[in-house]
Amino acid sequence: MCLGAELIMIKLSLSTIRGEPAVKYNVVHRGDDISIQTKDLLHELAAKRGLKQDINEPDLVVSVGGDGTMLHAFHMYSSKLDTTSFVGIHTGHLGFYADWKPQEVESLVDSMAAASASPPLRTVKYPIVQIEIATEKGIQTHLALNEFTLKGADATLVAELHINDERFEMFRGDGICISTPSGSTGYNKSLNGALLHPSLEAIQIAEMASLNNRVYRSLGSSIVLPKHHHCDIYPKKKMNMLLTIDHMNVQMNHIISIRSMVAETKVSFARFRPFPFWNRVREAFIGEIVE
Ligand code: NAP
Repeated sequence: MCLGAELIMIKLSLSTIRGEPAVKYNVVHRGDDISIQTKDLLHELAAKRGLKQDINEPDLVVSVGGDGTMLHAFHMYSSKLDTTSFVGIHTGHLGFYADWKPQEVESLVDSMAAASASPPLRTVKYPIVQIEIATEKGIQTHLALNEFTLKGADATLVAELHINDERFEMFRGDGICISTPSGSTGYNKSLNGALLHPSLEAIQIAEMASLNNRVYRSLGSSIVLPKHHHCDIYPKKKMNMLLTIDHMNVQMNHIISIRSMVAETKVSFARFRPFPFWNRVREAFIGEIVE
């Protein structure tokens, strides 16, 4: 064992003797071979360093797979965002939420052990979107890490959009996407929405193929709402709606309205080392600059 790892172990056992809380972790993985191997290695190394797994109340959730896996992990623990942080290992291409490589598992576990020995865990917090779906049966509240989208299931979506309780536009088209800053690189980007830095407390409304004529007029460009502003979507026709919340799809009818806003709660990511957002954007979408 190297001297650094020994020091971490000594610090960890001292903190355990003092009764200080150690970082309890859990792993959520994609289920493919490389993700399973990476998860097994992580458990083995974590056990050697005295880290405890806690499926129900983890301080840290390690997602092993891709950004899609992080979406699953987020929704598994979305009721515990005040006490749970996330970190991602990508077993495919570099992810926006998954920036550790499988070859770096040992270094990640060292960082977890170091954080366990000297809590609290250092984190960075990103805003998320809250949606409130009103139907005749009441109001359902959901959180999304990337975005929520609304589409007509059988026909084009016809809906009135209100911003801060004032009528803004009558939309007709394929659908509407409301994304978080960290989700702006997902579906929103395919809709030509802007990429927002996750330090901005905002949500972005992007249109999907809007139809414009004398009756239906919508802005055409995406708009960014700051915290404390809200947007209400009132579907105009009784129609089957297709709602997506991150990776999940739900068919619903009888929707009266959907309110979106920046959620009070944020999502926390463990910040064991810096990896600036714009570097991720460059690496994911542009690659190396060829002189
Ligand atoms: P999927 O259709 O299997 O994969 C969607 C792709 O989006 C994957 O390559 C995923 O990365 C990537 N992704 C997820 N979150 C991202 C983010 N914040 N920034 C950049 N890329 C991101 O679906 P899924 O894995 O269940 O993920 C659901 C997400 O897919 C949605 O939240 C939405 O953002 C995105 N999506 C995009 C479109 C589109 O662009 N037309 C359509 C539907 C859904 P990994 O490979 O690392 O998992």
